[in-house]
Amino acid sequence: MKITEYLNHAEKPLFSFEILPPLKGQSIKHLMEGISPLMEFNPPFVDVTYHREEFIYKKHPNGLLEKVSTKKRPGTVGICAAIMNRFHVEAVPHLLCGGFTKEETENALIDLNFIGVQNVLALRGDAPKSDGKFVPEPDGHHYSGDLVKQIIGMNKGHYLHEETEVGFQTDFCVGVAGYPEKHFEAPSMKFDLKHLKAKVEAGAEYIVTQMFFDNKKFFQYVENVRAAGINVPIIPGLKPITTLGQIVNLPRTFFLDMPDDLLDELEKCATNEAVKQVGIEWAIQQSKELVANGLPCLHYYTMSKADATYKIAKAVF
Ligand code: FAD
Repeated sequence: MKITEYLNHAEKPLFSFEILPPLKGQSIKHLMEGISPLMEFNPPFVDVTYHREEFIYKKHPNGLLEKVSTKKRPGTVGICAAIMNRFHVEAVPHLLCGGFTKEETENALIDLNFIGVQNVLALRGDAPKSDGKFVPEPDGHHYSGDLVKQIIGMNKGHYLHEETEVGFQTDFCVGVAGYPEKHFEAPSMKFDLKHLKAKVEAGAEYIVTQMFFDNKKFFQYVENVRAAGINVPIIPGLKPITTLGQIVNLPRTFFLDMPDDLLDELEKCATNEAVKQVGIEWAIQQSKELVANGLPCLHYYTMSKADATYKIAKAVF
């Protein structure tokens, strides 16, 4: 079923979450066992992230450097199939512009349709760490809005090559990303919202936000989104802080602010265990306020470690 149908028919706030494929070399068993307890809260869908290749430099005995590629977290499509089979919930794969030609995207969408995936989150992806700047594949998409157009085109039977004999049409429900604190490359919120609107006009049916720790920023964002004439559902993304390192890493990686009240509490913590407790309590308060404000679904970034999200869900749903 489509995410929008779940949202439209929800009688109470829905719980959903995001997982990462395991590192290459690790089995899926640990991941599946780890998320199993979260099924108690009846998530209609689980998002599975996609990780493009990273390039590393290997030094040869002669001193020459060779650029080699490595995919650290393969398996997005396989995990989607495994989740749908085992837990009977929708799996939402993240689909990137980066690293894909349009033809590869078309083929990936066919694979996803064949395994029964009905929803995808269309994203641009970040630049590989070694490159510093996002560069599309020679025949790939530059912005997620263009990826949305391709997916919606396939839903209408438009394939890249005219000679393709279309015997069936895909019917994906497409979500896109939104940024309550603005995407870091956008020169202004107005600019970012203009392009968010273009993604929705291209056919995106819902928005999932980047994590935020200050609900005031989220509520302001929703107001701005609506004022820009964007009317699709907005699903807030929440991440419980679980380690001391995240106090520095999360703002740096995701270009977001941490509220002073939260930082004051975190700075009193001497151990990761204490940080985790504060992070869980903060996320519970955030979640309760969002639910009280009528949000149809809350989405948790678990980083594939489900215990903190379990405690939050137990307190909220
Ligand atoms: P876009 O919508 O393409 O926007 C990128 C930037 O370009 C923005 O600043 C926007 O304002 C601007 N822009 C958009 N369209 C245009 C245009 N036509 N002309 C000029 N400027 C334009 N990354 C991964 O690698 N794997 C994942 O699984 C993943 N999952 C994510 C899930 C969520 C919910 C979120 C919020 C992010 C996720 N990301 C993931 C990170 C995401 O790929 C990055 O934030 C990326 O930098 C931007 O992706 P986007 O789809 O928002 O890009």
